[in-house]
Amino acid sequence: MTDFAVTKAMFDLPDGVIYLDGNSLGPLPKAAGDRVNDMLVKEWGQMLITGWNKAGWMALPTGLGDRIGRLVGAEPGTVVTGDTLSIKVYQAVASALELRPDRKVVLSDNGNFPSDLYMVDGLLRSLGPDYELRVVAPEEVAASITEDVAVLMLTEVDYRSGRMHDMKALTELAHANGVVTVWDLAHSAGAVPVDLSGCNADFAVGCTYKYLNGGPGAPAFIYVSPRLADRARPALSGWLGHEAPFAFDLNYRPGSGIERMRVGTPPIIQMTALSAAMDIWDMANMTDVRAKSIELTELFISRVEATCPELELASPRDPNQRGSQVSFRFTEGYAAMQALIARGVIGDFRAPDIMRFGFTPLYIDEQDVERAADIMADIMGNRLWDTPEYKVRQRVT
Ligand SMILES: *Cc1c(COP(=O)(O)O)cnc(C)c1O
Repeated sequence: MTDFAVTKAMFDLPDGVIYLDGNSLGPLPKAAGDRVNDMLVKEWGQMLITGWNKAGWMALPTGLGDRIGRLVGAEPGTVVTGDTLSIKVYQAVASALELRPDRKVVLSDNGNFPSDLYMVDGLLRSLGPDYELRVVAPEEVAASITEDVAVLMLTEVDYRSGRMHDMKALTELAHANGVVTVWDLAHSAGAVPVDLSGCNADFAVGCTYKYLNGGPGAPAFIYVSPRLADRARPALSGWLGHEAPFAFDLNYRPGSGIERMRVGTPPIIQMTALSAAMDIWDMANMTDVRAKSIELTELFISRVEATCPELELASPRDPNQRGSQVSFRFTEGYAAMQALIARGVIGDFRAPDIMRFGFTPLYIDEQDVERAADIMADIMGNRLWDTPEYKVRQRVT
């Protein structure tokens, strides 16, 4: 069993704060500060360039990839970290398209995160005018998987509502129609159990600064099924994905397996912070995390619905169809969220009217949820959100 009292004690959370925004930016692991400082002083400072070998910097992207892989059901040696999620989306979709050169359509849904759609739109523009990004409603995805589709690109858990796609069923349906799949796990990794191998997924991508707690700017990750890893041609063919980077060949030859999805020099400072977060994840079991997350979201929904009739649940009521977040609709949601933040309950707001709360068992417990619900009841019941200062929009919402 995962001991959540132990994991909670490993995070540095400010006094008086109930942090329900770990689905957007996870909090600081206590060990990260010393770990990064050691890396700076002892490794970068003392080893200088020899750190790439002596301190194992060059192996960090795949080492961290394997640790993340355990949480998402990936076989060892199939995940590598680096770059940002937007870039990994581009990389995965480009490689997936090349595996189906006879087809020109990428299918996605309008619940996807805009950056994923923007990146594919940009990619398809450079491939030529006969390529098409087809965006349908989430409920229409299954019926839209037709034999002209090359790639199905979906985010498993909707970032606004927490609604989940059925990864296994949709992947099966895609394969039956000759479609290559790209799954975005931004709101899945560390939030819900994922079984990439068992679902027979082709490509997957995700970020490490949300539920995985790697810190702002932490690297993304990409998974390529071992069935495809030596066939998938990397579109971002940087030198560190080359078979022999230090041969300095003028011709690109992809490295073996997942190594070819590396691009350039890895961000070692960020990866060091992420490794402190992964030490905590190494102690956790995703089945325990999921069970506890469902308890916490069910408790929050029942408390809020009992006390705040103005709020409308925007997440699926069935916990099995919901990720690890709960969203409510409220016309004055932005102001209400500012009022909550002023009282130490940190969630976030997604336009036009969604108040979003992430539930992360590694450091949120029942008492936190009860206190957050009490504060919400006070703010809604007494209209404490209804002041001009809470209605001024900031740059990041
Ligand atoms: C958070 C998120 C992103 C963000 O991409 P970055 O390149 O890391 O800024 C992209 N896609 C999805 C689905 C997300 O949830």
